[in-house]
Amino acid sequence: MIILALYYLTRPKWEIEEEPYVKLYLSQKNKVISLSLEEYVKGAVAAEMPASFELEALKAQAVCARTYAVRKILKGQKYREGADLSDNVNECQAYISEEEFKDRHPYDYKKLYKKIDQAVRDTRGIIIIYDDEPIDALYHSTCGGRTASGEEIWGNKIPYLVSCSCEYCKSSPYYKTIKEICDREIKKELGLTQNVKTVEIIQKTKSGRVRKLKINDQIIEANYFRQKLGLPSTWWEFTLKKDVLLIKSRGYGHGVGMCQYGAQGMAQKGYHYEDILKYYYKDIKFCQIDY
Ligand SMILES: [Zn+2]
Repeated sequence: MIILALYYLTRPKWEIEEEPYVKLYLSQKNKVISLSLEEYVKGAVAAEMPASFELEALKAQAVCARTYAVRKILKGQKYREGADLSDNVNECQAYISEEEFKDRHPYDYKKLYKKIDQAVRDTRGIIIIYDDEPIDALYHSTCGGRTASGEEIWGNKIPYLVSCSCEYCKSSPYYKTIKEICDREIKKELGLTQNVKTVEIIQKTKSGRVRKLKINDQIIEANYFRQKLGLPSTWWEFTLKKDVLLIKSRGYGHGVGMCQYGAQGMAQKGYHYEDILKYYYKDIKFCQIDY
């Protein structure tokens, strides 16, 4: 199936007779299940985007989730137990079953799940390609006003993952957030010996996120700082007040690719899912896998 898929990918339409089945590793249950690609996409959309979002945003998410999965499958990289995909967000994308979705939405499960089902059915088999290959369809919750390029996060230039301004995620609860962290906690988390006297941003990425900061005379990588202090992103402004550090963060997530709250904002303004995806991924094309 996978060899056949690769062969047809060079054509405008990718024709395979049957819908592919994927082996998914469920990390909590430590087991592998087999399910159709479209069933998998449904569970990924249910886990990765609030089901209350507009239908066009959910469709954009479905295309991203499908593209991400097809790319992983074609690359042939296996997860635990020989699975094609994993539900662990640290190595793949999240997935929940219909039962789990029901538990999370006890009151309006039917209506919401129907919407997800429609978003997946309306985009059946559609993936995003660049240079005849499925793209690395990365996405994140909220960019905070500007997305990050793939290059500034991972060092290698990816033509379709470029930074763009985003005015559509302003209503996200993560657009701007403030966290106060006391001196003691910073010292403990970062293993500092002295009290925090100065906090300075010493290097920024092109989109304005912090790459390196300096606390007293110690240089700290932004990603390390984010992880240690549980911050939503690496886009910061600092204010030091006596023994408390005030951190204003913008956005939530790495900032690369589609901004999910931005997709919702665009959908609310009447944009279709193709426009949303073309906004966040540059010079892409869509490919219909016929099954
Ligand atoms: Zn955004």
